[in-house]
Amino acid sequence: MEFRKLPPVQEQIMKCVRCGKCRSVCPVFDEIRNETAAPRGHVFMVQMLRDGQVNPRQEVYDRLGNCLLCETCSVNCPSGINVHELNAAARSYIYEQNPSIGKELIFDTMWTKPGLLRTSTKIMSGLQKLGLQSFARNTGLTRMLPGDLPRAEKIMSSIPSQPARNRLRKINRARGEKKYTVGYFLGCGTDILNPNVALATVDVLTRNGCDVLIPQDMKCCGLPHIANGKMDTARLLAIHNIKIFNSYKLDYIISDCASCTSALSRKNMEFLLGGLKIEDEAFEFSDKVMDLTRFLVEVIDIKLPVVNKDDENIRVTYHDPCHLANAQGIKEQPRELLKRIPGVDFVEMADANRCCGGSGTYSLTHYDLSMKILDRKMDNVMVTGADKIATCCPSCSMQLRHGISRHNYKGEVIHPVELVSQSYPKTLPAK
Ligand code: SF4
Ligand code: SF4
Repeated sequence: MEFRKLPPVQEQIMKCVRCGKCRSVCPVFDEIRNETAAPRGHVFMVQMLRDGQVNPRQEVYDRLGNCLLCETCSVNCPSGINVHELNAAARSYIYEQNPSIGKELIFDTMWTKPGLLRTSTKIMSGLQKLGLQSFARNTGLTRMLPGDLPRAEKIMSSIPSQPARNRLRKINRARGEKKYTVGYFLGCGTDILNPNVALATVDVLTRNGCDVLIPQDMKCCGLPHIANGKMDTARLLAIHNIKIFNSYKLDYIISDCASCTSALSRKNMEFLLGGLKIEDEAFEFSDKVMDLTRFLVEVIDIKLPVVNKDDENIRVTYHDPCHLANAQGIKEQPRELLKRIPGVDFVEMADANRCCGGSGTYSLTHYDLSMKILDRKMDNVMVTGADKIATCCPSCSMQLRHGISRHNYKGEVIHPVELVSQSYPKTLPAK
């Protein structure tokens, strides 16, 4: 399939009035304090790229690549410019002329084949247990990886040995009266890094009248590819997933991962596939996509069993994933869900919707900068004294777990649906 090669930038660039509002809210500019790192600077850079005033060199990619794609600038821009989309389109445009073997290996060979991705992470998990990661490090094997990956490997502490897919059936029947048939978009991060979240999601959905279908041949949502300049691969992944899910009769397509629902949203489908023949099919698909917390609160109107009065309440705070709060405007629903769990004392943290610096693969490719942003987040987390830090994104979870270990904090990172599942009498979906 032939895709557009030029980034869709012209109309948006013309709208920038250089007001600087985006700069005042950008977490990366806060750390770097240099116009080239500011969203406005990125808009200007993309314009120069379009006009041929700068060449699509790796150096330009690296400057644009400092951006988290957190969308804070876009939601605050008075002219309505999607700064992050300009940035992502430009990365893809530059990458095509500066391809790298490491990225091809990771994003095309491995991350487009779920079986291979699971096997690779299983091997990494085994290596961790055997202590062979230090062998790979000492022999220079990890130096073959791109960006800061070799230094950032410590963020990926204790990868579970079994992904969720090995523990879940393709079809999981509703317990009690059936109300909906939902497709579960089980993203790579939840499947591989947080399998317990997937088990809890299926548990809670089936308990609440949903037949849950998990298509075995779905692939990555494509967001890591967009962030890493592999837009054409992201398009192919989106098309694959659209065909798979549209072949079933579903009321909703649910995901517990903020990045996945944002990648599968109508807004992102317009960005990736707008104007192509597949557009109508893409919108039919994306119009069914819904974040799990929104589904449980707005569609199911979930009610939870009353807690044993002898149990002590737990103190829970919430971190807004950028791909949920900024990309989809979903802030109230996860909080409402947490507040409906008996025995939870909800406490708001300051700047809850400030990025944690995780942003998909960012903490792995920009370790130092990511840690500065994380440390600010952790200051706000620790003041709450929370026992649990709830969030709805595997990347944020991984980053916050690393923050907890960096700061020696007592709390545990958890998805709201895990707390919901734990509030029921104990049974998990059968294998
Ligand atoms: S907020 Fe929007 S209009 Fe203002 S400088 Fe930034 S991109 Fe331009
Ligand atoms: S997307 Fe986030 S990190 Fe990137 S320029 Fe905008 S505010 Fe800054």
